[in-house]
Amino acid sequence: MSEFSYFQTRGWIEVIVGSMFSGKTEELIRRTRRAEFAKLKVQEFKPVIDNRYKEKEVTSHNLNTVDATPLNHIEEIWDHLSPKTRVVGIDEGQFFDPSIVQVVQDLADRGLRVIIAGLDTDWKGRPFEPMPTLMAIAENVTKQHAVCMVCGAPASRTQKTSGGDSQIEVGAAESYEARCREHFVAKVDQRT
Ligand code: ADP
Ligand code: MG
Repeated sequence: MSEFSYFQTRGWIEVIVGSMFSGKTEELIRRTRRAEFAKLKVQEFKPVIDNRYKEKEVTSHNLNTVDATPLNHIEEIWDHLSPKTRVVGIDEGQFFDPSIVQVVQDLADRGLRVIIAGLDTDWKGRPFEPMPTLMAIAENVTKQHAVCMVCGAPASRTQKTSGGDSQIEVGAAESYEARCREHFVAKVDQRT
């Protein structure tokens, strides 16, 4: 469904969700690259908190990369937005505060295509705001699945395998893995 949005002239919100390693960033990069093939100006943004790989890039776990502007607060997007931009990509949406909802509405109301990738649930399996609200207001939602590291089934959950109890703790394969519903537990769980 996202494919026909390349041809539309009105604004529109797309949300890409799923567990860690489900290919959200890859899908965001794929869509924005296609928009560039259509000669549409694209700008990518990400929260400053996500500096796992590169500070000024959006990077997937398999190290696919595009340039991105890091934002301390989503409202800063207005300082960076070029008037020529037609497509806005935002990665790690779950790390922005609830004001992202109004910002992406305003962007879409101005006629921009806005694509936001982020975690739909946290490591305890709870809805991870603001993604659930963004899913509700979006024209298009894609749920991606990773591969369960216990059984190989499609994985919908992010299992914490080391570290503390806070909702936000940025990490990659050393502290999280993908699990299916059956093998997910809402606590830190190291596989033996
Ligand atoms: P996300 O942004 O959803 O965390 P990425 O797009 O950064 O995901 O990375 C997806 C890539 O992660 C896959 O193409 C694959 O190379 C790698 N990967 C590592 N662990 C898994 C897993 N358990 N299931 C699927 N892909 C995995
Ligand atoms: Mg990602």
